[in-house]
Amino acid sequence: MDTLERQIILNLKSRFFDIIDTENGFFHYEKLLNEMLSAIKSLTGADEITLYAFNEWKHEFFAEAATHPVGMQSPAFSGDLKRWAEKNREFQSLGAEIKEDQIMIPLVKSSQLLGCLILTGQPGCFHSYPDKVFQELSQECGQFFDKAQGLAKIASEEKRYKQLYRVTEKFHSSMDMDMVLGEIIYTLQEMYPTFTYYLLLSQDNNNHGDLPIRDLEYDSENIAAMQAYVTGAVQFEDSLQEMRSVLYAPLKGKQGVYGVLQVIAPNTIIFPKSEIEFITLLANTAGSALENAQLYQQSKRLIADLQLINETSHRLNSNLRLTETMNFMAEQILHSFDAEEAGFILISSDGANANVIQDSTEFFQRKEAEIYIEYIMTKIIKEKESLFIGDFSLQCEETITFYKSIMAVPMTQSGALKGFALVMHSSPYHFLFETFKLLQSLIHHSTLAFTNSILREELEKMVVTDHLTKLYSRSYLDDRIHQSMNEDHEGTFMLVDIDDFKSINDNYGHQVGDEIIIQVANLINSNIRATDIGARWGGEELALYLPGVSLSAGAFIAARLVRKVCEITDPQVTISCGVSYWSSGKKDSYDALFKRADKALYTAKNSGKNKVIIESAADSCI
Ligand code: GH3
Ligand code: MG
Ligand code: MG
Repeated sequence: MDTLERQIILNLKSRFFDIIDTENGFFHYEKLLNEMLSAIKSLTGADEITLYAFNEWKHEFFAEAATHPVGMQSPAFSGDLKRWAEKNREFQSLGAEIKEDQIMIPLVKSSQLLGCLILTGQPGCFHSYPDKVFQELSQECGQFFDKAQGLAKIASEEKRYKQLYRVTEKFHSSMDMDMVLGEIIYTLQEMYPTFTYYLLLSQDNNNHGDLPIRDLEYDSENIAAMQAYVTGAVQFEDSLQEMRSVLYAPLKGKQGVYGVLQVIAPNTIIFPKSEIEFITLLANTAGSALENAQLYQQSKRLIADLQLINETSHRLNSNLRLTETMNFMAEQILHSFDAEEAGFILISSDGANANVIQDSTEFFQRKEAEIYIEYIMTKIIKEKESLFIGDFSLQCEETITFYKSIMAVPMTQSGALKGFALVMHSSPYHFLFETFKLLQSLIHHSTLAFTNSILREELEKMVVTDHLTKLYSRSYLDDRIHQSMNEDHEGTFMLVDIDDFKSINDNYGHQVGDEIIIQVANLINSNIRATDIGARWGGEELALYLPGVSLSAGAFIAARLVRKVCEITDPQVTISCGVSYWSSGKKDSYDALFKRADKALYTAKNSGKNKVIIESAADSCI
């Protein structure tokens, strides 16, 4: 090598060294290239230098840097360069191609053509340099450019992974689907601002505001998207006509694919491998985040369902009366399932008759309800299965099918069909399948309590003592009063109602409520004689009949009872007591006796409670 060459190359090396050295850890790709070009320019005396490099997106050579403004990055040159590269496979030994005013220096690294430098100068100005100079230049610049590209790649990957880290962090801090979806779009827009994005989601019924979200539908236009969804692998679709390339990345979680990310790149380009990897990684992260958000929503729903079932079972098992049971159930169903009608229909044991329970919604008492009840009952008796009907008008020939969405769940106990619950809404396909499942569980859990209530009420009519309080039953009391009014010459009757009992139930629960009823009942039993009759009138209303007892003695007993209840019950309650009296001298009846006590009780309630009011005797004498 002669001194000129050596001088140039040494100069170049030291300039390159300076360029790298002054970077101080701050890396700027364009600046690095520009400084490289100006170093070459000053050493070679060229007027203009352009650096062409292979563009991974376009698979073409494009102007990457220049010492002068370059116009549109025309790929036309690329053809020349490729042909030229073809001609000179052995790049190491490749010389520069010199024209009168231009010289092309390949940038080569490990037999790979990275790009080239085009130096333009005065005609003949490059002839003074020996070939060797350009060969050296080719190698030095090739190495330098390769370094610069390597650094650029590291910097862009660092940026990407920072983005990915930020996104992942956000995803994990949120269970909000829209936030997750918005974040995906935002990140992509930052990375590739000229592309268009859509999220194609499966089973999505939500409104996402401005987010570019579409339903993932199966049709002939969507084959690649579907393919990505089904196979879980990235798919590509190139449209030469529309000059665009589309990438479909599945949003994959651990348990499945939740949708597809569609990335539309303008002008036909080829997605480089590293970009595909990044987009795939982002899509997978998003898939996991979506999965988490969905699982979270799902678990929240399941918890709410369980709470509903739990609360319902709890309430039902707390010895409610049938009408209270059904009332409660109907309210729960209307409220939790967003239903318009909720009915409970009992089926007679021979399957011939339907009996609508009183606490069903009002519609079920009307004539129009019969067609629904009959149709559903026949089907349930036949199939013994729940019904989930999206549009009743498609099934039923009758013209009156106002209610289109119908859910019906049989109530069976020990294998016997007792009846069914019928839940309806006028809009078709109103109920979700999950709602139907929940109704099934709810009915399943409550059938026992429900049939128990029926049985209990039937039994209550038959038995003499009340199970809870061990007081006499009402029917027994009725019989005994009738008997006494025939046989004795006087008697005192009292109706007792616990004050503000609802709040006891509400504050302590029904079980404590029951205990209070028992406490009051025990006080009654311990304050009367064996011939007296203490009875459970119904609910928290108790009654006492004292045969052959005068009004003054009866009033005394009543007052003592009111006082003792207030003193002894725990949690403390008070009672109100309405007292009535009959004597054989006056024209009277059982009904009138009861009415007077009831009226007195009413007055006691309305005048401060915790007291006795006496509605003495019938007015007229015999
Ligand atoms: P008032 O002072 O006017 O009597 O107020 P109240 O809250 O007691 O009202 P009301 O008598 O109308 O309501 C009684 C409540 O008692 C309604 C019902 O939920 C409850 N109840 C009825 N029977 C039973 C029962 O057997 N056990 C329990 N725990 N609660 C009952
Ligand atoms: Mg009461
Ligand atoms: Mg009451």
